Amino acid sequence: MAGVKPKASQQPAPAASARRVGVLGGTFDPVHIGHLRSALEVAEMLGLDELRLTPNARPPHRDTPQVSAQQRLAMVECAVQGVAPLTVDARELQRNKPSYTVDTLELMRAELAADDQLFLLLGWDAFCGLPTWHRWEELLQHCHILVLQRPDADVEPPDALRNLLAARSISDPQALQGPGGQITFIWQTPLAVSATQIRQLLASGKSVRFLVPDAVLAYIDAHGLYRAST
Ligand code: ATP
Repeated sequence: MAGVKPKASQQPAPAASARRVGVLGGTFDPVHIGHLRSALEVAEMLGLDELRLTPNARPPHRDTPQVSAQQRLAMVECAVQGVAPLTVDARELQRNKPSYTVDTLELMRAELAADDQLFLLLGWDAFCGLPTWHRWEELLQHCHILVLQRPDADVEPPDALRNLLAARSISDPQALQGPGGQITFIWQTPLAVSATQIRQLLASGKSVRFLVPDAVLAYIDAHGLYRAST
């Protein structure tokens, strides 16, 4: 009937076949509830089909002593086991050289259909560091950027990001249109947990129970990770 406003459930939806894929990169040294809770909340909020946790490769000398890239990967695998739609994408660890996020997104975009949506999740701290990233200005050609507000986020964005924010940011995450190109901010349950804090607790012989999933804790204990050597 003309003039009748459709109910929310009748609003036009993206093409039924369009997939919605999120990517959360990190060192995950180790993965913790801050990463996992953020990932799950974003996935549910945006109805993602998949959210890929993507451990970063690091030059070998920068890996924490005792903890290899394969162990960081194994902990992420333990953490997402049975937690759909969270998955692990190990491609950055399978290359011989440290890889750039823009390259990873370019590859993922090439594997998706043209109207599939790709979302890069970045904590506020990571977002503020964007202008130091390789070919950072090309990122939005491949994806949308979701900035996760962290409770410890007290820094101003750098000047280089101000113009980008003015041109590309929108306030409503539900209003992101198309395969990529926009930035939005997501407020979440604040969990001021960091991997640094977890490494410090373990090194001083304290428990990290409830800061990481039990399966990750079991892995850390089984391999004696992060404990100060005696
Ligand atoms: P570290 O303390 O070693 O620097 P981290 O806890 O910040 O590590 P990373 O693996 O570097 O973890 O983070 C991966 C991504 O997850 C980044 O975008 C980061 O901003 C985000 N992130 C980390 N911790 C949280 C948290 N508690 N809440 C929301 N986002 C987080």
